[in-house]
Amino acid sequence: MTHTTDLNQDLLARAKRVIPGGVNSPVRAFNAVGGVPRFVERAQGAYFWDKNGQRFTDYIGSWGPMILGHGHPQVVATVHAAVDEGFSYGAPTEREVALAEKILALMPSMDMVRLVSSGTEAGMSALRLARGFTGRNKIVKFNGCYHGHADALLVKAGSGLATFGSSSSAGVPADVVKDTIVLEYNDVAQLEEAFAKMGSEIACVIMEPIAGNMNFVRASVEFTRRIRELTQEHGALMIYDEVMTGFRVALGSAQSLYAQQIEGFQPDITVMGKVIGGGMPLAAFGGRREIMEKLSPLGGVYQAGTLSGNPIATACGLKTLELISAPGFHAELHLKTGQLMQGLKAEADAAGIPFSVDWQGGLFGFFFLPELPTHYPQVMTTDQARFNKFFHGMLQQGEYFAPALYEAGFMSAAHSQDDIDRTLEAARAVFKTL
Ligand code: PMP
Repeated sequence: MTHTTDLNQDLLARAKRVIPGGVNSPVRAFNAVGGVPRFVERAQGAYFWDKNGQRFTDYIGSWGPMILGHGHPQVVATVHAAVDEGFSYGAPTEREVALAEKILALMPSMDMVRLVSSGTEAGMSALRLARGFTGRNKIVKFNGCYHGHADALLVKAGSGLATFGSSSSAGVPADVVKDTIVLEYNDVAQLEEAFAKMGSEIACVIMEPIAGNMNFVRASVEFTRRIRELTQEHGALMIYDEVMTGFRVALGSAQSLYAQQIEGFQPDITVMGKVIGGGMPLAAFGGRREIMEKLSPLGGVYQAGTLSGNPIATACGLKTLELISAPGFHAELHLKTGQLMQGLKAEADAAGIPFSVDWQGGLFGFFFLPELPTHYPQVMTTDQARFNKFFHGMLQQGEYFAPALYEAGFMSAAHSQDDIDRTLEAARAVFKTL
C-alpha cells in the first residue's frame, strides 16, 4: 500500500479490500458528494476527530442517536456500570421493563412496546404485525421515505438508494414487492384514489411524519389527517415511523406535534430507533394493546431477537431518555437549531443564493432551492453540484454536515453558541465561492 499523508485515504484503501466500498452502510462512502470519507478516531461532545487528527463539528450525530452529544458523562458512567454486570443474557431483565415503561409514559399512543436492535428490524416487524393483525397484504409507503431495508419496503426508498439512481434493490423478487404501493408524499388526491381503488386490501400506511430521508420534508397537517381518516374508514393501520423523529423533534415525538393540530390524533403503531438507544443498537415498535398482543408468544405473529433488549443498550437508552426528559430540553434544542438554520439562510441570502430551511427540535434541513419542497421529486431538483461544493467547503473548515443533499441534519445538546457561530462564519466564506 502506498502511504500518503492522508490517513483517511490510506485507511479507505485498506477498508476497500475487505469491506464492500470500505464502509458498513452506503452513505458513509461519500458516493453522493465524492471525496474521501473521514474515518473517525474518537468523539466528544459536539465534535469528532478523524484519523488525521482534524476536528469536526458533528452535525450528523450518528444519524440521530447522539442527541446529548458524544460521551455525555452520565451516560458513559451508566454504560460502564452496565458493562460490569454482563453483556447479554438472553433472559429478561428489569431494565427492559423500565425502558418500556419510560417509552410508554412519553408516548400515549402506545400501550405496549417490543424492543429490537435496529430501525430496519423494527419497521420490518411492524409491517408483519400490521399484516397479521388485519389479515391483508397490501401496504402503502411514500416516495422518498425510508423505513429500513426490509425487502417489501425497498421500493423507491430514499436514503442511499437515491444516489444509485435505482428505485429498488437487486435481489428483491418482484413477488415480494407486488403488494407495496408507493405514493407521492403530501399528495392527498393520490392517497384518496388508492383507498378508493384498494381500500379493503390495504393492511397499513407507513410514513415518516417528518421525512428525514429526503432531507427534511414535513407531512402537511391535511395529508396526515387524511391518512388517519382513510385508514380508520377502511380498517387499515397507520404506522408512524419515528425512528428519526422519535424523541428528537419533541419529547413526545412528531406525533405529539400533529396531535396539537389534529384532534385526538394517534397512529396505531409507532416505530422507533436512534435516540432511544442513545448510540447503542436499540430500536422498538409499539402500539395499541389489541395489536401488540398479536405478537408471539401471545399471538401468531412471530418476532424474536438474540440481542433484543440488550442490557447495555437498554442502560444507555434509559439514561438518555431520562436526561432528555429534563424540562425545556427540546425547546432549547429547537431554538439552537433555529439559530443555525436562520443563520445559514441569512448568509445564503447575503450571497444571493436561493436557499430554504426548516427545522424541528434537533432535526433540520436546508435546500439550495428558493422554496421548501413538499415531496421527493422536488427535493431532487436541488443543484447537486452546488450542494457538493458547499459540503466540501464546509468539510474543509471542519464542519461536518450530511454527505448527501437528501439527508437531514442533526443538532445535539452539546453544540454551543460558539460552535454555531463558527459554523456560520465558515458558511459565509463558502457561500461566496458558490
Ligand atoms: N426508519 C427511518 C425513518 C430511518 O431514518 C432509518 C435509518 N436512517 C430506519 C428506519 C432504519 O433504521 P436502522 O438504520 O437502524 O436500521
